Amino acid sequence: MSMRTAVVTGASAGIGEATARALASAGFHVVLGARRLNRLRQLAEELSGTAHELDVTDVESVASFVDQVPECHLLVNNAGGARGLERVEEADEENWHWMWQTNVLGTLRVTKALLPKLIASGEGHVITVTSIAGHEVYDGGAGYTSAKHAQAALHQTLRSEHLGDPLRLTEIVPGMVETDFSLNRFDGDAERAERVYQGLQPLTASDVAEVIAFAATRPAHVNLDRIVLQPTAQYNGSRILRR
Ligand code: NAP
Repeated sequence: MSMRTAVVTGASAGIGEATARALASAGFHVVLGARRLNRLRQLAEELSGTAHELDVTDVESVASFVDQVPECHLLVNNAGGARGLERVEEADEENWHWMWQTNVLGTLRVTKALLPKLIASGEGHVITVTSIAGHEVYDGGAGYTSAKHAQAALHQTLRSEHLGDPLRLTEIVPGMVETDFSLNRFDGDAERAERVYQGLQPLTASDVAEVIAFAATRPAHVNLDRIVLQPTAQYNGSRILRR
């Protein structure tokens, strides 16, 4: 059998980069997309994969990315993140716009464009990295939690709309993972970002990537619908035990 192709969005760092490594180890040909092409190229070379520039907020960029992917068995919707932590009364619309464009519309655009190829593969699979923020709310988090709720709703709708098609759908729901996520959320404030992970052992990007690769390598009749994984010291978005 020829190699199956996996597209990973946001593969230049964090969970996406670790997922690209895990899927390449599991035997996939990985096609990597993100804005930082130099990082992607290095990773693609290491994994014998392919790198293409992708900005999920840009319709033309998505179209040109998808044109360069001749076939696709697995799509990992990973590109995304958070900006800011303001209460609703102080909401920054630019932050909200970024989060909705990237997490929600980005997932919609890439998924919509790749669906015909995923179904044509005869064993398509869409794995979407949402968050526990897609299933609960916390103070200061409305921009991110609302975007992740919308992304989760989009993903779950596809699961129902494609019953009977050769298309599996898996939602990955991580708690706290130590990546550049908080650094980006707090606009490069490293001290503030570091405090997020103080006093507990967070998940690593590869902890999440291993779960994604597990879901991707089940037999075609097994659909892992939703997998929640958190650090042992985390109960939910608000209740975390720090020592
Ligand atoms: P990260 O280290 O900040 O990585 C984010 C990735 O998304 C980067 O590769 C970035 O690449 C890419 N990206 C951002 N905007 C993009 C755009 N417009 N077009 C294409 N790619 C874009 O964060 P991470 O923790 O790995 O986050 C990955 C996913 O996991 C996100 O959806 C996040 O919401 C979710 N998540 C994270 C955590 C956590 O605690 N870390 C928990 C739950 C869920 P470029 O900058 O090169 O484009």
